[in-house]
Amino acid sequence: MTLTDLQALEADHVIASYARYPVELVRGEGLRLWDAEGNEYLDFLSGISVVNVGHCHPAVVAAVREQAGRLMHVTNLFYNEPAMRLAGRLARSSLGGKVFFCNSGAEANEAAIKLMRKARPRGEIVVVHGAFHGRTYGALSATPSEAKQAPFAPLVPGFVVVEPTAAAIEAAVGDRTAGVLLEPIQGESGVHQLPVEVLAAARAACDRSGAALIFDEIQTGLGRTGTMWAYEQTGVVPDALTSAKALGGGLPIGALVTGPRLADVFTPGDHGSTFAGGPLIAAAANASLDVLEDPALLVRVGELGERLRDGLRALPGVRNVRGVGLMIAFDVDGAPALVRRALLEQRLVLNATGPETVRMLPALILGEAEVDDALARLAALL
Ligand SMILES: *Cc1c(COP(=O)(O)O)cnc(C)c1O
Repeated sequence: MTLTDLQALEADHVIASYARYPVELVRGEGLRLWDAEGNEYLDFLSGISVVNVGHCHPAVVAAVREQAGRLMHVTNLFYNEPAMRLAGRLARSSLGGKVFFCNSGAEANEAAIKLMRKARPRGEIVVVHGAFHGRTYGALSATPSEAKQAPFAPLVPGFVVVEPTAAAIEAAVGDRTAGVLLEPIQGESGVHQLPVEVLAAARAACDRSGAALIFDEIQTGLGRTGTMWAYEQTGVVPDALTSAKALGGGLPIGALVTGPRLADVFTPGDHGSTFAGGPLIAAAANASLDVLEDPALLVRVGELGERLRDGLRALPGVRNVRGVGLMIAFDVDGAPALVRRALLEQRLVLNATGPETVRMLPALILGEAEVDDALARLAALL
């Protein structure tokens, strides 16, 4: 089928919830992608921080092949070793409590919302402007965006939206608060780090009131910022975190990971999902973690992030270069048009999070050569 055939099928039969570029991708390896015409691309988006280990990482591919030939699905009425092992690894790498598996980031936040409300049946959940927590009803209700929310009213009640400041969060958290849900670095809003004093104020307010503090680490986690989890760099430890995106090495999985305090809030029957924690995806996730848990790789993420930000600061028209590790954004006039030209003229995959913001989320296995290559392709456009 040609691209024109695909576009005709889309026009007739695919619900138009995405605006696509006129490119059909057919193969990937590391930071490289190829389209149906054989053109090679340099990928600095990683499927929105999903393939942190690079496309088709050999260890992930081998694990999937092996597990697919053995057993793909059993339901959670039975044990499967890959999922139990993955839960142990996730908990031990972070908050030390227990894990609930699901299939996506939004689902991980749904689980977090239910957990907060069951742990402290007060109802209110405090979130901040600029947050993105997903598209399902609970997650959407926690995502204060007029454009995303308004067509779908009424939303889930009980979400309190405040500015991402210490004073606003302190004032909002009280007797009626079940919990506070925050991204340590807001991703979809254009890579905006919440200052440590804001996270610390949320922690203190939750400790004072008995509310739960949960970090959405769906984008920031799994090595993206140069540590396994972004909270490790803040000195603020949440009561639970949510993960997804890169967790499955390219396959769909989400997880809610608790600390000890929230580990036993859910009891049998409280929550569940047919596919969640299946052996195939858990095997992929374990293989992906083998790559990402390498301390040397995490150090490299920090170094290469610096190199990329330094290079971006030297480019004409580029403003407000920001980010931590390899979660990076900058402002530029006409960001969506620049991203389109980068793709079609320079074969460099980037992402615009808004009219003036370009985001970069390359695979964490890249090297200096790929950083410099991306900078050169970008420079050719500016
Ligand atoms: C991507 C993302 C989500 C939603 O994840 P899905 O898998 O698309 O449901 C939630 N929170 C953050 C911070 C994200 O980056």
